[in-house]
Amino acid sequence: MSDLTTSPAVINYINRLFKDYYTNHPVSNIVDISTREFGVGAFGQKISKRHLAFSNLKSFNDYLKTNTPFFVSYSVGYYKYPDRRPMENKQLTGADIVYEFDVDDFNLPCQDRHNVWVCKDPSCGDYGYGNKEFCETCKKPAKITQWTCDEGLDKVKSETIRLINFLESEFKLDPSTFIISFSGSKGYHVRITDKSIIPLSKSARLQLMNYIFAVSLDLEKLGFKTIGKKRFCPDINNSKGWSKKIIDYIYNLFSNSTAKDLENSLNISKKQAILLYDHKQTILKQMIHNNILWNDFRNSNKLWDKITSKAVDDLRLKIDPQSSSDIYKIMRVPDTIHGGTGFLSTSIKDIDSLKEFDAFSDPVVLRSEKIKKVKLLQITPKFRLLKEIYGPYEVNDIIEVPEHVAVFLVLKGVAKFE
Ligand SMILES: [Zn+2]
Ligand SMILES: [Zn+2]
Repeated sequence: MSDLTTSPAVINYINRLFKDYYTNHPVSNIVDISTREFGVGAFGQKISKRHLAFSNLKSFNDYLKTNTPFFVSYSVGYYKYPDRRPMENKQLTGADIVYEFDVDDFNLPCQDRHNVWVCKDPSCGDYGYGNKEFCETCKKPAKITQWTCDEGLDKVKSETIRLINFLESEFKLDPSTFIISFSGSKGYHVRITDKSIIPLSKSARLQLMNYIFAVSLDLEKLGFKTIGKKRFCPDINNSKGWSKKIIDYIYNLFSNSTAKDLENSLNISKKQAILLYDHKQTILKQMIHNNILWNDFRNSNKLWDKITSKAVDDLRLKIDPQSSSDIYKIMRVPDTIHGGTGFLSTSIKDIDSLKEFDAFSDPVVLRSEKIKKVKLLQITPKFRLLKEIYGPYEVNDIIEVPEHVAVFLVLKGVAKFE
């Protein structure tokens, strides 16, 4: 986000756009508002003030219209006195569980194509595409501007969907208590407000997370054990939890793969892949009828170790367990505007709506036919807003674009109004 190019007039102008939006679109997707701590942010600063509290939705919406903050977050926790400080004085009575899925956590190859680095040393000033922390020319630190794309956000979306399915099927949590939202920028949030999880302690939460993320799974306990020369696996029809997930994964791997698929996905020799493929029926039968992983071949134990750990790795959810167990954090309020993009942190009704959600169109709420002129401050990759493709742009390009595109670029800190 920009820190040097934005005048008070520009901030006022954007504030007015936010105010118009909030005046016509009251925010309501907050559970137990009077027990929550709120935090707000200013231009370029996600949190500038915390410990705010609102007794009801009306006073909260009045605040949004009057103060038009650039960012609005509210607590994962429920408090007796949400505005008191320090934190102990608020008296925590419980907390939701929140999962954040962010493209940054996935190390996707697309980030090297569209992220932009700029050398922090103005006397060098080199720049380029790539996720580089250090300048290519002078090796000094570089500033990275992150961009998102359909590929990246689709990946994040599919992980979010996996988590929601997991929570429903494994923990029998009530999906109507899940608050799903787009973050307004680079990912999705899922807030669980199910009554059964609210009282859980920090360590119980951490255990729950460890289970979801398959941290230090004990494969023997799950039924994958070697006795004598035989390798046993769990009963595919009568297992549950991680036992079931892993054995289903292995079963599907052998049912649905060609020899070539096995070679590629397991990273094994062609010879070994053909051997496995030729014995596919034996492998599947032994697995189903005798709970045995067929191992009548050279190096079989090494290979089965590899297959089981690949199963765990592909099945585990890739988010930081520590982050979801923090009960004091505050998170973006759904249906408020993200001040780093101008996009709505959109509430998403359910998993079907999530599948349909278009992160470059649905959250674009400051839509306008007005044309604005902006000057690019750095190179900018091709991006899509609504149905239009914009860019790529060079530094100092002056472009005329619809107001919502101009506001997006300015809030992102890569352009200024001309
Ligand atoms: Zn440099
Ligand atoms: Zn991408």
